[in-house]
Amino acid sequence: MKTIVFATNNKNKIKEFKDILGNRNINLLSLADINYDKEIIEDGLSFKENALIKARQVALDTGYITISDDSGLSVDALNGAPGIYSARYSGKGTKENNKLLLKNMEGKENRRAHFTCAICLYFPNGKYVVAEGYIYGAITDMPHGDNGFGYDPVFYLEEYHKTMAELEPTFKDKISHRANAIKKLGELVDEDFNII
Ligand code: IMP
Repeated sequence: MKTIVFATNNKNKIKEFKDILGNRNINLLSLADINYDKEIIEDGLSFKENALIKARQVALDTGYITISDDSGLSVDALNGAPGIYSARYSGKGTKENNKLLLKNMEGKENRRAHFTCAICLYFPNGKYVVAEGYIYGAITDMPHGDNGFGYDPVFYLEEYHKTMAELEPTFKDKISHRANAIKKLGELVDEDFNII
């Protein structure tokens, strides 16, 4: 069985990963489990690059096979913004990020947007794979719903007639960009997490 570090301290991300690929022969640890607290500068120009930067750094520092993810929201009418800058769009936290987004969307007819999640699996010998998953929706006029985090209250899913923040968390975890990226990663590795 391989031990793999997921370069996150977000327990929900680790749970999501286990829910989808937990039947493989892996022992998944968090950064806290291995006492790793070094700050990593994610200065890549894409979600994939940032996931690779993080996974590579942790793998090289610790010798563990490492998984990392990077995600964000891209809005068509804003030329893909906030994109890789999703977490720091306003510089003032989640509520202000959503406010700024709605302000920048005022008067825009095209409300289409998508979340992206890139996941990188990096081996200390330098081999790696990256998978990307998406979910498509539209930006609302105002926030709706209390579940989830980040841009969930302003991201509307036509298929379900709900914002992402109005979905049951367990349901969101099944259809999200992260779930889609994890499933794709699963297609790139075998039962023992060797790259196919
Ligand atoms: P991270 O990749 O987990 O650091 O997420 C980057 C940023 O993208 C978050 O701070 C959120 O602003 C946004 N984001 C990523 N995934 C989601 C999601 O599932 N819902 C809402 N916002 C998200």
